Formats: sequence, structure tokens, C-alpha cells
Amino acid sequence: MTDFRILDEKDTKEVVEKLYNAYPKAGYYLNFKTIDQLFVLVILSAQTRDETVNKLAPQLFSRYHTIKDFAYANPTELSKMIKSVNFANSKADHIIAASKVIMQEFGGKVPNTMEFLTKLPGIGRKSANVILTNGFGIVEGIPVDTWVIKISRRLGLTQNIDPDKIEKDLISKLPKSRWSKLQYVFKEHGKSTCKVVPICSKCIVNRLCKRNGVVKSI
Ligand code: SF4
Repeated sequence: MTDFRILDEKDTKEVVEKLYNAYPKAGYYLNFKTIDQLFVLVILSAQTRDETVNKLAPQLFSRYHTIKDFAYANPTELSKMIKSVNFANSKADHIIAASKVIMQEFGGKVPNTMEFLTKLPGIGRKSANVILTNGFGIVEGIPVDTWVIKISRRLGLTQNIDPDKIEKDLISKLPKSRWSKLQYVFKEHGKSTCKVVPICSKCIVNRLCKRNGVVKSI
């Protein structure tokens, strides 16, 4: 087994800048008009394609407009409306339970701190980061999803597997100006080039990438 290799500071900067420049339009994919809608979409999007969530959103939000509506939603009816997402029943339960807490403890307003958001059912650190960044313009951390885990490790930005540890590594290495879009830049790179079998021969960072864990590439 080959050793895991980590990028040095200079190469880290170059890799991240190259990827940022390559995907200037990378950004949040879920369509929302209010913080309440964003909150619900973030719960729905876990382990589900963005396209699936965006497709069901118009009908869902024509039935439920606010956190208050979701707090009083019928679980069976809500589950049916979101049945195209994975784990629809438990997500419906989380949406209703979290909305009740927001009504009772935050006056119906989605909280804007990591501490309070991560106390809500169905909201982990990754989701809280997404809500804070895209809903409130507050950049407190880096959302670590499966794309960020895979590509950060391949590149040599982190050796960790645990998302919280990966986030700490990335925070310590990248300037804050690069935190909010990293997830979307890596997603674009993963979809276009750093696939399951990566197309390393055509990759813009192949000269620098450590290719950790890459057994086969094109
Ligand atoms: S495509 Fe290959 S060279 Fe490019 S980031 Fe992925 S593993 Fe590294």
C-alpha cells in the first residue's frame, strides 16, 4: 500500500486557486426564496440529488409557506409530498420536529448560529454551514459532503475521513475567502473530471495532485 501524501502550503494554494478559476459559476444548487424554504430544502437534500429536491419544491411550498405551516403539518401528508427523496418519512419527522422547536424557542425564525442550528433535529454541522452561508451570509465553516471528502483526500488536503476533522484541516489550510464555495467547486470538479474513475490525464491540477487512493485513472 502506498503512503498517503499531503500537499504542502504552496501547492495547496495553487490547487485551490486553479480549481476556483476553472469553475467560476459553481454555486448553491437548490432553489429557494426564503430562509424557511432553504431550511426545509437542506433537510430534504441529504443523500438526495439536488434535481429531485428542486423538482418537488414548487408544489411543496405552495402547500406549506412558513416554518409555522411545517410545524403543524400532518406527517403522513408531508411524507407523501416528499416521497421522491430518500428517507422521506424520517425527513418529514425531522422537518416537523425542527419547525416546532423553531416556533417554541426562536419565535418562528430560523436561528442564525451554529450552536442553535445544530441542536435542531435533522441538522448537522454540514447542513448548518449551508444554511448560515446561503441564508444569512455568515461563513463560519466549510460544508463537508461526499465530494469534499473524496476530492480533499485525493488531492492531499487531508488524510482524515471524519467530516469534522476534514473541516478542521481545510479551515486551517485555506483562506476564509475560499470556504463558502469549496463544496460547489469540488462538486463541479467531481462531476466533470475527478469521477469514480478520475480523468487525471485531462485534470487541470494533475501536476500537483497526490492522487491518494486512486487505483485506476483515465
Ligand atoms: S482527476 Fe486525478 S489528478 Fe485531478 S484531482 Fe482527481 S485524482 Fe487528482
